[in-house]
Amino acid sequence: TEGNFLQKNITKDILLGGLLVPGFDQGSCLSRYQSVLYRKESPHLPSPHLLERLRKQEALQKKCGPGTQLYKKAIEQLKSGNSTQTLECNYLVVLSYSGLGNKMLTLASAFIYAILTNRVLLIDRGAHIADLFCEPFPNTTWLLPWDFPIDHFSSIYKDDPRSYGKMLKDKVIGNEVNGATNGSLPPYVYLHLSHDYGDFDKLFYCEDDQRLLQKIPWLLLRSNQYFVPSLFLIPAYEEELNRLFPEKETAFHHLGRYLFHPTNSVWGMIVRSYQAYLAKADEIVGIQVRVFERGKTPFQHVLDQILACSLEEKVLPNVSLHEPVVSGTDSKSKVVLVTSLDSAYFEKIRSMYWEHSTATGEVIGVYQPSHEGFEQTGKEMHEMKAWAEIYLLSLTDMLVSSSWSTFGYVARGLGGLKPWIVSFKTADQMTNPPCRRAMSMDPCFHFPPFLDCKAKSYVDQGALVPYLKHCEDSGGLKLV
Ligand code: GDP
Repeated sequence: TEGNFLQKNITKDILLGGLLVPGFDQGSCLSRYQSVLYRKESPHLPSPHLLERLRKQEALQKKCGPGTQLYKKAIEQLKSGNSTQTLECNYLVVLSYSGLGNKMLTLASAFIYAILTNRVLLIDRGAHIADLFCEPFPNTTWLLPWDFPIDHFSSIYKDDPRSYGKMLKDKVIGNEVNGATNGSLPPYVYLHLSHDYGDFDKLFYCEDDQRLLQKIPWLLLRSNQYFVPSLFLIPAYEEELNRLFPEKETAFHHLGRYLFHPTNSVWGMIVRSYQAYLAKADEIVGIQVRVFERGKTPFQHVLDQILACSLEEKVLPNVSLHEPVVSGTDSKSKVVLVTSLDSAYFEKIRSMYWEHSTATGEVIGVYQPSHEGFEQTGKEMHEMKAWAEIYLLSLTDMLVSSSWSTFGYVARGLGGLKPWIVSFKTADQMTNPPCRRAMSMDPCFHFPPFLDCKAKSYVDQGALVPYLKHCEDSGGLKLV
């Protein structure tokens, strides 16, 4: 039955400008070819060069993926403990880490790094990856096989003896500059690229180190960052990245829509929410409330800040406090999709539009799919809800999102949205203006290395090239 979906919907660009390939079994991942029914067509086309590299990567993933002879050979070398012989297939293994938004940003970054370095991308299946995402590559798997010889992932951290930064520091490995004697290289190193990385870990972003890393067949990576912006600053990758993304701010937009397809269970949640609460509205507004230090951030302050932003920017209409306006049957309707771990923001906004009419006569519905209370990364249904809500936010027409939240970054990137970003003070004082419009849809790299590789010193990369700026909501870097 679903077999004809592609044919029936030929008027819609099901393959997203060529990002996706036909030929996947449609029933096993309905979201892959049905996203066009829910998300507006993107005005941003992927570049022909990106499409070419995606096809090349798909071929590589298949040729070298788990189960193939080439994979077995690479595993043998990994077990043997040295990398004397160069192999046809090299790998990048992403270790499971952090909340869903951070994880998706890491995966997208790792994916582009894999493309740039001709590596096969594999992911540790911890934290329910397979329950959240369909396979992105045809006729192979991106899930690391259970029998992968290194199995103590959770204990691998920045001081691991196989950590690249640690090895550089201890001079057991070295690029030509740091003077270490390079005996035989190990078959794998661990790259620690999360927010708490140290100066030696940051050398990952230097060209000499990239040259050395190219000789190592297996890279294990742990991160919780969107590190694409800093890859543009590595001369060896800059030109290629410019060709891949002539429109720089669309990097995550394309990578994310290529990689992340909700599994049928998550898709069911998305579609049910959409059909029951969102589909009939003339306009969908998303409000994403993420409060990091709940103890120190008063509820009323967050609510005031969100409402001040939404009303001032005309994302939401004012209420009429004078005479009750009765809306006609043809009045416009807006639905507000609220996502938050709490339900109180939703309840306040809903009451506001029930107790009062709007000054514009618009009819406002308010909906929040879940209120999970607190972050429960690692719990299957919790992560599925988080993914469904990120996806639903990406379907909105206008978005108000919270500063620093990668949950919101993923939503805006997938949806191609430039949200209004609200930040909350821990003291009870309003920020003025209450929010800022995002300069671009791309996510923020919160902790870039700010490293001048040649001078080995600090440099502010937010002022080096026109397409990299400091984020609206942090001192990090983003593509604009
Ligand atoms: P960040 O911490 O806001 O940058 O986003 P992450 O996604 O990395 O981590 C926060 C985690 O908390 C999410 O993955 C969810 O598990 C949970 N969470 C935070 N906000 C929400 C929300 O609005 N809805 C749901 N369902 N979960 C949320």
